[in-house]
Amino acid sequence: MNDAAARTEISSTGAAAVFDVPPVTQAKRLIVKIGSALLVDGATHRIRRDWLDSVCDDVAALRRRGVDVVIVSSGAVAVGREHLGLVGRPLKLEEKQAAAATGQIRLAHAYQETLARHDITVAQVLLTLDDTEDRRRHLNGRATIETLLKLGAVPVINENDTVATAEIRFGDNDRLAARVAQMISADTLILMSDIDGLYTADPRKDPNARHLPVVTEVTPEIEAMAGEPPAGYSSGGMVTKIAAARIAVAAGCRMAIVSGKRMNPLAALETAAEQGGALCTWFLPSAGPGTARKRWIAGSLKPAGTLVVDEGAAQALARGGSLLPAGVRGVEGDFQRGDLVAVRTQAGRVIARGLVAYSAEDARRIQGRRSAEIEASLGWRGRDEMIHRDDLALG
Ligand code: GLU
Repeated sequence: MNDAAARTEISSTGAAAVFDVPPVTQAKRLIVKIGSALLVDGATHRIRRDWLDSVCDDVAALRRRGVDVVIVSSGAVAVGREHLGLVGRPLKLEEKQAAAATGQIRLAHAYQETLARHDITVAQVLLTLDDTEDRRRHLNGRATIETLLKLGAVPVINENDTVATAEIRFGDNDRLAARVAQMISADTLILMSDIDGLYTADPRKDPNARHLPVVTEVTPEIEAMAGEPPAGYSSGGMVTKIAAARIAVAAGCRMAIVSGKRMNPLAALETAAEQGGALCTWFLPSAGPGTARKRWIAGSLKPAGTLVVDEGAAQALARGGSLLPAGVRGVEGDFQRGDLVAVRTQAGRVIARGLVAYSAEDARRIQGRRSAEIEASLGWRGRDEMIHRDDLALG
């Protein structure tokens, strides 16, 4: 049964969804978010290495199956504070940032060691909210992570807590993970939590709380089920997980809230789902990530400029190709790298919109040139495409 069929089953029976195949087995590009409360022992402030090893064994198994895996890991503040003598009281923002700087290096080291057991190379990526929102940085982040994945590495991502001040801070890695999912067109996001999904009420307080195996729309009722954020290490709780679901689903990425309280929680997800999916809550999108990204581009605000292209380029685009500098005959307007531009034929027909990989000034310099000549024209090696096909929406 595919995602859509599962949806029908829920609405017609109201019963727990039974997936023919566990949704996680359909993942091609998966993000797993690991929270501090699971990763770091509350009493010793140390990383729970046995547990982390078991998660990374699961990650290695996914990689062997050809799945791209990205880890978004919290825990820098929780691990770092002890080393600065910052325990036993709430921390000020700058103390948290200092603790994160101390903890992040230990966190990265732990991931490197544990994945090295499987000969997997780890890459550390630290992002701020701005990096995921600003189009130019968004494209850079996307290209870097794509490249790491292509080269077989596992990126381990956290918020860049040192520079992220209150107003520009995610503060929780649930939403950061969802933004990363959107940025790299991931199809599956797993939020590992201390609870096995969403309940109609807080199960610790309400004995009638019912577990929801599948959510197909993040309605105000669903949001109301999230309740209050918890105390302790976790900065998120259910509130930020639902916010993350909204972002992920809009980006065409299915998302699960999964209990990570056991060993090998990702492997368990694959078998448990076969038995009814009770171990987690799946949030299902209505379209895949490719379609959602193109919709996002198509629906974006006014284009900042226009690229006029020749007939050959127009045909290449219609066949699903990228726009290369060689096919560009004119550049109108003033735009920056990553801005949205319109693509028009010389006859005056607008055929596409897309996120451009060059500023207007650079685009003028390389228009009509072959990709191999870009470096000679600019003095630096840019991207081969003027607009990559993933960043184009036709029509
Ligand atoms: N970036 C913070 C850290 O690594 C965690 C944010 C969160 O708890 O989600 O400690």
